[in-house]
Amino acid sequence: MRVSLIIPAAGLGSRFRQSLSRSDKKVSSCRSKLCYQLNGEPVLLRTLRAFEQIPEICEMIVAISPEMLPEVKGWTRSIRGLKVRWILGGKTRAESVWNALKKTSLQSDWIMVHDGARPLITPHAIRQVLKAGKDWDGVILARKVVPTIKRVLTEDGHIRETVDRNALYEAETPQLVRREMLLRAYKQNPRAFEATDEAGLLEAIGARVRVMPHGDWNPKLTTLTDLMLAKATTEKNILPEVRVGIGFDTHRLVKGRKFYLGGMVIPSPKGALGHSDGDALLHALADAILGAIGAGDIGEWFSDRDPKFKNIRSTKILGVILAEAKRRGWQPYHADTNIILESPKLYAHKSKIRKSVAKCLELDEKDVSIKARTREGLGPEGEGLAVTCEAVVSMRKVTA
Ligand code: MG
Repeated sequence: MRVSLIIPAAGLGSRFRQSLSRSDKKVSSCRSKLCYQLNGEPVLLRTLRAFEQIPEICEMIVAISPEMLPEVKGWTRSIRGLKVRWILGGKTRAESVWNALKKTSLQSDWIMVHDGARPLITPHAIRQVLKAGKDWDGVILARKVVPTIKRVLTEDGHIRETVDRNALYEAETPQLVRREMLLRAYKQNPRAFEATDEAGLLEAIGARVRVMPHGDWNPKLTTLTDLMLAKATTEKNILPEVRVGIGFDTHRLVKGRKFYLGGMVIPSPKGALGHSDGDALLHALADAILGAIGAGDIGEWFSDRDPKFKNIRSTKILGVILAEAKRRGWQPYHADTNIILESPKLYAHKSKIRKSVAKCLELDEKDVSIKARTREGLGPEGEGLAVTCEAVVSMRKVTA
C-alpha cells in the first residue's frame, strides 16, 4: 500500500483571528493559526509529525497560503527521511487538495488527506483508517454524533423534528481515498471545488466510502479556545509554577514618629521606630516576596547600618524587591496579612490600607487581605509598645 499524504493548510483561519482579543493579535506575529505553538512546535508541524510512524506514507505534500511561505522556511525539511513538499494552496480546501493531487506520485495508489489544523490525530487512528480501506473506494475517520440534533423549519428557529442521531457521524480527517477515484471525482464533478471533504467528492460519483468510527479527541482547531484546550491536553506542565513566601516584622512604637503602615500614614500619637520609615506591614510583605524567590531577607538588601537607607520609604523598598522578583520571573498574585496592634484601632483604616498595599504590589484589591488583631493587652503589642505584622505572599512564575 503506497499512500501520498496531502495536508490542506492554506485556510485563512478567519474564525481563529476573530477569536483573538486585540492584545492577542498584537502579541502574535503569526499570520496563521497553524504557526501557533503547541507543545513547543507549530501546530502544522505537530500535525505532520503524527504521520512519522506510518510506513505506508511515501510522500508528504502540504498546501499552504503564500503568507505562510516565509514561516515554514525555518521548519524541518524532512520527516522520517521524507522530504516535506510545500506547495501553494487554492481559495478553497478542495482547490488546495486538487493542487496537491496533481503533484502526487503516479506510484501511489492511495491518497490520504488530513487537515493541517488537526494536530491531535494519533498514529493509532491513522492505522485504523488505513486498515479499513481495503475493500472500499474510500474511508474516513468519523465520530458518532452524540448531541441531540434538531432540524428547524424556518429562519425563526421553529423545530420541525428531532433527527435520529443513530445514523449520524461527524466527518473528520484523515480521509483515505483511491487516487484514481479522487482524480475521476474532480474531473466528473463541475462543482468539485465546493466540496468540503474528499468523501463528499467520491459520494457524488457513486463511489463506496465508509466511516471509521473512533473515540479519540481529534478536534479541528478553529478558535483560540480550541488551541488552549489542545494545549491543556498535550502539555505536561499545564499548572503554573507557584511559590508561597512568609514574612514577619516588629517595630517599637514611640512618640514623635509618623506611623507608616501599608504604605500610608495612620493618625496616631506614636509611630514605628526604625532606620527606614518603619512600615512593618510593607517589611513583612517584602520579606515574604524575598522568601518566595529565595533571595535572602530585607536586612541583606537594605541594611539598617547603611546611612543611605536612613528614613527610606518602605514603598521604595518594596518596589525594589518586587522588581527583583519580576527580573527572576516571579509575580505575586495574592497576599494575606495580619497586623497585631493594640492602638490606634484600625477598623476605620483597613480598607485604605488594603487599597494602598494592593497598589504597592500591583494587585487588585480583591487579591489582598488585611486582618487586624489586638493582643488583649498582653505582650509588647498588647501594652502598646510595638506593632507586629505577618504576611504570606503567593507568587507565580511568569516566564519560562
Ligand atoms: Mg522592619
